[in-house]
Amino acid sequence: MKYCKNCLEPSTFPITKFNKKGLCSTCQYYLKFIKNFDEGQKLQILKEITQKYKNSKNTFDCIIGVSGGKDSTRQALWIRDKLKLRPLLVCCTYPPEQLTDLGARNLSNLIKLGFDLIVTAPGPQTWKKLLKKGFYGGNYLRGPELALYSSLPQIAIKYNIKLIFWGEGGNGKTTDITTIVKKKEYDGNLLRKQDTLKNCDLSWTKDIIEDEAKLIPYKYPTERDFVKNKIQIIYLGWFMKDWSILNNAKYSSLNGLKLRSDVVENTGDLYGSMALDEDWVIVNQMIKYYKFGFGRVTDYLNYEIRQGKIKREDAIKLVEKYDGKCDPKYIRSFCNYINISESEFWSTVSNFVNKKLFTLNNKKDSEKYLPKFKVGIGL
Ligand SMILES: [Zn+2]
Repeated sequence: MKYCKNCLEPSTFPITKFNKKGLCSTCQYYLKFIKNFDEGQKLQILKEITQKYKNSKNTFDCIIGVSGGKDSTRQALWIRDKLKLRPLLVCCTYPPEQLTDLGARNLSNLIKLGFDLIVTAPGPQTWKKLLKKGFYGGNYLRGPELALYSSLPQIAIKYNIKLIFWGEGGNGKTTDITTIVKKKEYDGNLLRKQDTLKNCDLSWTKDIIEDEAKLIPYKYPTERDFVKNKIQIIYLGWFMKDWSILNNAKYSSLNGLKLRSDVVENTGDLYGSMALDEDWVIVNQMIKYYKFGFGRVTDYLNYEIRQGKIKREDAIKLVEKYDGKCDPKYIRSFCNYINISESEFWSTVSNFVNKKLFTLNNKKDSEKYLPKFKVGIGL
């Protein structure tokens, strides 16, 4: 394992490739992205694209996928107030046991800001089965992500809306900007081929879900449906120079967004702004940390390093202190939900821990494994 010379992206970061100068893919992309960034020109491209979707009297101009969090609040306001489009917001929400009060409150804030919103809620029994199976396969978000991404084109087709906005490609797993590197970098119609949706495969659910109707919320419309209904997905992040975790959180907080109140020692969430609508993301980030040697704090700070807001050496201290942190209460809550014991939880997680990077620590409940690597240096 080695680190990018500029930021703290490790070589274990999925899809990264270091160049001869030791820069990671994301930094290489970012430097090019910023150097060529022409805000006026990008806005022009966006206006040209969106123009043809405007002015229909019978439906909304576009759909925006929202959770009520920092990215969606910023996007919704930007699209309505700057682009002057009439958006319909769509939120695929979590089951009551998973949804946080904070998430419900932030979603209400979006409605209060004057938006029309449709909430879809896949049945909790199927949700739980898929989540559990996903956990044993190393990614409990596999099912939820399919539902989340499928809800937008499904609603778009039903309401005859052709334009859909996402903030960025991929998801929390790979929040960096490399996820949108494609020929037309803002074109989200390629999403189905990306790692998140894995070609929308549902064959892994066959042995646990008997009634196929229960899988409807997880079915991403086919390429044919996209063509027939002229669906176009656009990643908005590509058009905004200051699109970042921290900037979006700041901007949205000024517009009524409430952030996570638990401390970073318990959450590994440096600014308390990630996935506010559920808490098991903290568990997921801890598992990611054990798999790849980096967690949410690294994600946050890589943005900040690239934007020149923090020095690499200062970022290292924060990463060493907080990355991968997860209070046992979140693990307990997750285990209760999928009805497994904590020892079962850890024996499953241990299958995915990168043993080259971590060593077992039997002393502490909250840190089951200790890193063998040195942040910023590697192994
Ligand atoms: Zn880098």
